[in-house]
Amino acid sequence: MAYQIDSSCIGCGACTGECPVDAIKDNGGVFTIDANTCIDCGACAGACPVGAPKQA
Ligand code: SF4
Ligand code: SF4
Repeated sequence: MAYQIDSSCIGCGACTGECPVDAIKDNGGVFTIDANTCIDCGACAGACPVGAPKQA
């Protein structure tokens, strides 16, 4: 299990600094979560203004 960022992401970057394990990467404005690093804490979802990170 891991969180995934869905297509509602607006690329604001607010989630990246909230992740305790640095699992969120900005690939030129496309934000993705490394499923192998994510510990499922939900901090990114709480920080996101549009609720884009969802538990997969
Ligand atoms: Fe990082 Fe937690 Fe979001 Fe996973 S759920 S990407 S560990 S902030
Ligand atoms: Fe995308 Fe939400 Fe992260 Fe902003 S906080 S980059 S909208 S997932």
